[in-house]
Amino acid sequence: MENKTYRIAVIPGDGIGKEVMPEGLRAVQAAADKFGIGLELTHIDWASCDYWQAHGKMMPDDWKAQLQGMDAIFFGAVGWPATVPDHVSLWGSLLKFRREFDQYINLRPVRLFEGVPCPLAGRKAGDIDFFVVRENTEGEYTNLGGRIFEGTEREIVIQESVFSRHGTERVLKFAFELAQSRPRKKLTVATKSNGIAVSMPWWDERADEIGRSYPEVAADKQHIDILSARFVLQPDRFDVVVASNLFGDILSDLGPACTGTIGLAPSANLDPERRFPSLFEPVHGSAPDIYGQNIANPVAMIWSGALMLDFLTHGQGAGRQAHDAIVAAIETVLREGPRTRDLGGQADTTEMGKAVAALI
Ligand code: ATP
Ligand code: MG
Repeated sequence: MENKTYRIAVIPGDGIGKEVMPEGLRAVQAAADKFGIGLELTHIDWASCDYWQAHGKMMPDDWKAQLQGMDAIFFGAVGWPATVPDHVSLWGSLLKFRREFDQYINLRPVRLFEGVPCPLAGRKAGDIDFFVVRENTEGEYTNLGGRIFEGTEREIVIQESVFSRHGTERVLKFAFELAQSRPRKKLTVATKSNGIAVSMPWWDERADEIGRSYPEVAADKQHIDILSARFVLQPDRFDVVVASNLFGDILSDLGPACTGTIGLAPSANLDPERRFPSLFEPVHGSAPDIYGQNIANPVAMIWSGALMLDFLTHGQGAGRQAHDAIVAAIETVLREGPRTRDLGGQADTTEMGKAVAALI
């Protein structure tokens, strides 16, 4: 195997991002050492509201050049609304990364762990284990449209969606590939072609067309309304779910919520072609309400690190082993403790992080 050293930009950001990042790194480093993965970390203090306070902007002007050569960005959380409005901090950092680095896949694992109370009755660990793949760059999230006859009885508002062939096919392809790589080989395509009569039938056609190249994958289209209901009623039937930007946004919060893990949930913003660095971050935000006490749960950050190692090595060899070792350690700690307060325990962030790293 080639002996590559992966370059990682480490950006803690704001609030509890600064508290969970050391635990994310502790786990990632332990797994990298164990499986012989070389990492070169570059610690970055910008893309934070502290930087904004000192410089009046979230990032230096050459941020893109500084990050371009990285293999990945390991990101904590951004936002400190007491000093910087959320739209300024978010659009000035994280959303720039997603767009400029064309991170067109938003990937979120949904998994039920033992020791985490599940809001769905009768479900046990192992019953729920799937991925939501969300299109991250186009679709319903546009600023195209406008208001006419504004303020009158005849007022009309038009909001347009954009689905490009390129943008649609690449997310579907990624989802089929992921489904193909998993034992169950099932793909659920979220749609709403009965109501949204222009874009969604076309989305369905693209899915059929791409699906022809993946005969082993059992693909099935479901309308978003019943699909959401099934997340709650029959979550065990899913393996990989692919959705447009809006539908995926909703499903990728609903999924983790169904496993009681919105606070544990990791995410990956990927450029699968690796033209640009991909970004790995917890789903949760900077949580100003608990910052400074070292009580934040570090699992979402640690799990994001596992996704990063897996992606860096194309889901193979040492990186896959490192990923699996981290997830197994998380599994054990969630079951046996120590647990942070949000899970009913007494441990602080560092204790929980050290316990995971020790098991790795
Ligand atoms: P964003 O908009 O940046 O996604 P948000 O404003 O929706 O973030 P969070 O910052 O994620 O929300 O916080 C939501 C709630 O969850 C807060 O009460 C916070 O304390 C809690 N929370 C978030 N992350 C954690 C964590 N890692 N451990 C414990 N509690 C957390
Ligand atoms: Mg917030």
